[in-house]
Amino acid sequence: MNTKSFLKFILNFLVILIITASAGQTGCSKDSNTKAPAAQTQHAEKKDAGDLSIVRDKNVDVDSLDQNKNGYLYQCAMDYDVISDKPGICPKCGMELKEVTLAQAKKNLIDYGFQVK
Ligand SMILES: [Zn+2]
Repeated sequence: MNTKSFLKFILNFLVILIITASAGQTGCSKDSNTKAPAAQTQHAEKKDAGDLSIVRDKNVDVDSLDQNKNGYLYQCAMDYDVISDKPGICPKCGMELKEVTLAQAKKNLIDYGFQVK
């Protein structure tokens, strides 16, 4: 008898928990619906920070990337295929690009499995 009433108590408790949880979720989803436009705007801003055009392909011509001909490029330390002639943010991992010489950028790319001209 004791076990049965205990199980009943647990069952009731679970039902209350589920009702409370689902009510909470409904409240949450209403909240996130109203906040959704703001979140989307933030996402768009993040995209602007990471310029996908600086992700280079396997046949990249490193010398041509140095448009100001100063001998330096900006390369992501994590993604060697991300190279820019200007400081910036890696669109793949969000890290700040590191200043490297043309030779260093080429060496990194070769290590990365690229064919460098
Ligand atoms: Zn990166």
